[in-house]
Amino acid sequence: MKYYILFGPPGAGKGTQAKFIAEKYNLLHISTGDLLRKEMAAGTPLGLQAKQLIDGGNLVPDEVVVGMIKNTFALNKDVSGFLLDGFPRTIAQAQKLDEMLAENGEKVDKVLSLAIKDETIFERIAKRAQIEGRKDDADPKTIQNRIDTYHEKTEPLIEYYKEKGNYCEIPGEQTIEEVFSDICRTIG
Ligand code: AMP
Repeated sequence: MKYYILFGPPGAGKGTQAKFIAEKYNLLHISTGDLLRKEMAAGTPLGLQAKQLIDGGNLVPDEVVVGMIKNTFALNKDVSGFLLDGFPRTIAQAQKLDEMLAENGEKVDKVLSLAIKDETIFERIAKRAQIEGRKDDADPKTIQNRIDTYHEKTEPLIEYYKEKGNYCEIPGEQTIEEVFSDICRTIG
């Protein structure tokens, strides 16, 4: 089983690239953001619990997303690999993931990291707000909070994976096609 992580700040293009990568490499795409938005749309207790945090640009608790990932792994034993998009987002989540995989003698194969500047994040999210209508994309204060949260809680994962030797950085300010071709070269 292959495990790839698509890593990067909000607006880096993870969702766009994930669709291409999952199709080309026959991976199951798991986006914790999409899973949470489905829970919110369905009005489940989990969705209701997560809504305020997501709409405010804050992370939901580690146990919630780790639980969702565990369930998705358990329900999809016959796939050839997974592409994790938006997970892990904290060191605690990364450690849990490593523990989960180690139980079966597995590990994260590669971390595909899309690097973009904070200014670009703002531009991209403002554009996406008009297309997708996400509440957490609409307000500049919420966007700034998501960027701050990324720097504070998620960025430390770069060092975590660099130390493990599976961290691969791809310049995310190129065209969609250029980013994808860099990713394909990195996956090999
Ligand atoms: P995304 O679609 O990946 O931008 O995620 C949207 C929102 O869902 C984030 O701003 C968080 O509130 C929540 N979320 C998604 N993935 C995670 C995660 N791995 N850990 C905590 N919160 C998450």
